[in-house]
Amino acid sequence: MRYGLMFLVTAMTAYLGLPQPALGQGFGTGKGLPRHEITNLTGDLYRFRQVRHFGMFLVTTDGIVVVDPTNSEAAAWLKDQLDERFGLPVKYVIYSHSHNDHSSGGEVFADTATIIGHENMRKNLVSPAADAALLPREQLWDTNHDGLLQKTEVEGTALANGFAALDSDRNGGLSRAEVWVRQFGGEQVPPDIYYADRASINLGGKTVELHYMGRNHSDDMSVVLFPEERTIYTVDFLTPKRPPRADLGGGFLPDWVASLRRVEQLDFDIISPGHELPGTKADVIEQRHYLEELVEAVSEGIAAGRTKQQLVETILMEDYDHLIEYDFSRARNVAGAYEILISNE
Ligand SMILES: [Zn+2]
Repeated sequence: MRYGLMFLVTAMTAYLGLPQPALGQGFGTGKGLPRHEITNLTGDLYRFRQVRHFGMFLVTTDGIVVVDPTNSEAAAWLKDQLDERFGLPVKYVIYSHSHNDHSSGGEVFADTATIIGHENMRKNLVSPAADAALLPREQLWDTNHDGLLQKTEVEGTALANGFAALDSDRNGGLSRAEVWVRQFGGEQVPPDIYYADRASINLGGKTVELHYMGRNHSDDMSVVLFPEERTIYTVDFLTPKRPPRADLGGGFLPDWVASLRRVEQLDFDIISPGHELPGTKADVIEQRHYLEELVEAVSEGIAAGRTKQQLVETILMEDYDHLIEYDFSRARNVAGAYEILISNE
């Protein structure tokens, strides 16, 4: 067994290459995309969507395993669909990670399902104290060093959108706790079970595995492996044919690269992401090469004393200009990698 701290849910009684659009399906507002849809991926494994967001479910004779209920509206719609199509209860809900645009809506299934997530979700789902310090990367933005982020300090970051709503005490600046709300706050039902390195669900003769691959897009990310279906679900962490989105908000470098290397070692054929279309193992390798080159170029630039703006202007990642959202994310990826790597120092 490669994993020292293997955690088996089986101890519980329940036993327990498609063509790509020029612009990503996840781009912008999602105008023109279906509100809700279910598509069969392979065998009894399905993807469901709400506009830009995709979750998954596996149907077994003893019930259904749902991955990422997405939000309350999507989950309520999905529950009706599952009742109508299969007449089976949802026995497990897996949260891929703690970001509330994927792991909300668990309450819809809470009466029949056990909810599972990585153990780092436990801390991430708790609001930081009102006086908690900004994270190192946020401190880079806090140019007046008052411990809060004013709107002028977050221009161009994800915090600029909806700034007023996040500033709940209306003092004109965002505290760490107010920033936290954007990704984690909301009506999230926490997991019933947390695992550390690996977990396995057996239900109706089928298996679903959760693998912790280290820090990447978040520090609580599970890659969900469906061994019989030879499929992995990688949500925001690995999107085939698309670079990581925008400024890599909340991400960890260089850990993300090592995490992709671990995914390469898993035994699968299909990647089903939380955005965009499914891909293959070749897409993991491409993504790892992209991030590896990005981290290397930005690290060299930092070592040479170059500014963020100089790196944005010179690290063009041209070998990857065929990727979805390259024009949207390339400069933001460079700026984000700079901020993450320089805050590690
Ligand atoms: Zn996320």
